[in-house]
Amino acid sequence: MQHQTRFLIYGFAVIILMMMALAFIALYSPSSNNIEGNFKVSRQLEKINLINELATIIQNRTRFMQSMLLNDEQFIEDESWPNFNRLSGAYSETRNRLVPLLAPREREIMQAIDRLDKDISDLNRQVSILFLNGSRNEASEILLQEVLPKTAPLLSHLSELTQSQRMDVQKALLLASNEAEKSRMQIAIFSIIAVLVSLAVTCIAILYWRKLSGQLQDMNSYLEQRIHERTESLLDTQKELLEDNNELTRMALTDNLTGLSNRTNMNQILRREYARFERHDQRFGIIMLDIDHFKKINDSFGHDTGDIVLKKLALIFESAIRTSDFVARWGGEEFLICCTTIEEDDLLPIAETIRHLVASTELEYVGQITASLGGAAIVKGETIGELIKRADVALYEAKNMGRNQSVVSEFTDITMMQSAGSSL
Ligand code: GH3
Ligand code: MG
Ligand code: MG
Repeated sequence: MQHQTRFLIYGFAVIILMMMALAFIALYSPSSNNIEGNFKVSRQLEKINLINELATIIQNRTRFMQSMLLNDEQFIEDESWPNFNRLSGAYSETRNRLVPLLAPREREIMQAIDRLDKDISDLNRQVSILFLNGSRNEASEILLQEVLPKTAPLLSHLSELTQSQRMDVQKALLLASNEAEKSRMQIAIFSIIAVLVSLAVTCIAILYWRKLSGQLQDMNSYLEQRIHERTESLLDTQKELLEDNNELTRMALTDNLTGLSNRTNMNQILRREYARFERHDQRFGIIMLDIDHFKKINDSFGHDTGDIVLKKLALIFESAIRTSDFVARWGGEEFLICCTTIEEDDLLPIAETIRHLVASTELEYVGQITASLGGAAIVKGETIGELIKRADVALYEAKNMGRNQSVVSEFTDITMMQSAGSSL
């Protein structure tokens, strides 16, 4: 899975979790509406309790009066009077707690209850006095004919009040339930919107990411293309440089006029052959060639013709030598041939072959010309410079012998050469 895709999935999961946590908190946190609804319900319940308490007190008081008439003096002995008085006190206390909680309409009912209660209290007082004075019949009569008939409407008013509370409680419960439902709906809608928003955000993020990835890919391929082009161009430049370098090297090692190796190149060849001779004991030899009376050619036919002659001779030398041998323009109208893998006796035939070839060639403008050649094969303990010197001496000898001659140095080792050198 790609890194970006994984990142998006994790991001999306985090958003969903966050939204779920939010919805959970909202669902279980009490809203202000719920608090209000609950407060109303508890207030109503308190009112109902107080009304019930009031009804109980009134009923107990009536029951007490009835019991008093039925049980005679025993009440006094049982100290029941203080209980009766306590009931009256409890009524006032409960009533005072109830009144502030009542609605205006309920207060009217309460006033009716208060009026009836006052009448009943006064009558109760009369009943008590009569009872204590021994007029039990009179007391019973007041109780039956006045107190009890007033008690019924009193209880009825209380019941009315209770009923009204029940309705209010139902209303409050309904309100609280509606509000709770409303809150739940709001939370649900909020959660759905939150999830949809996070989905939309994620989709936008994905689209944006894709667009970005596309742009990055384009940029990448553009850069790759540029790098490829640059690399190609660098390779071309490198190739050109290499070619230029090769050309420069070739030019540095080639003679301009004849196209043969120049003196520098021949020196390298000689060093290489010399190393081979030292390591493998493979002898090599050199032949130095100088054109006879070349000055005359220049003087007679001009310098350009002299150049043409030099070029033509270069071709003749190249074709005459063995493929393993090398020829170079050593300077002016002098050439040097390096014969690899050779014995001393081989040098003269090679020199003679070349000499005959030069002499037998009919050249344009100038006709036939000749050349003198001096050869030398390397000997143990000899340096390249000494070898060249010996070839030069041999050439000088060929010139002295009347030109158009080949002379090969005869020395086979350095001691012989040194002893012979003094006689040269
Ligand atoms: P010798 O038989 O003694 O060698 O006589 P020579 O005339 O060849 O004498 P030398 O070797 O002293 O003269 C060489 C002449 O070659 C002198 C110079 O003008 C000529 N030469 C040297 N380099 C060039 C060249 O590149 N082109 C032409 N045309 N002539 C050259
Ligand atoms: Mg010369
Ligand atoms: Mg010459």
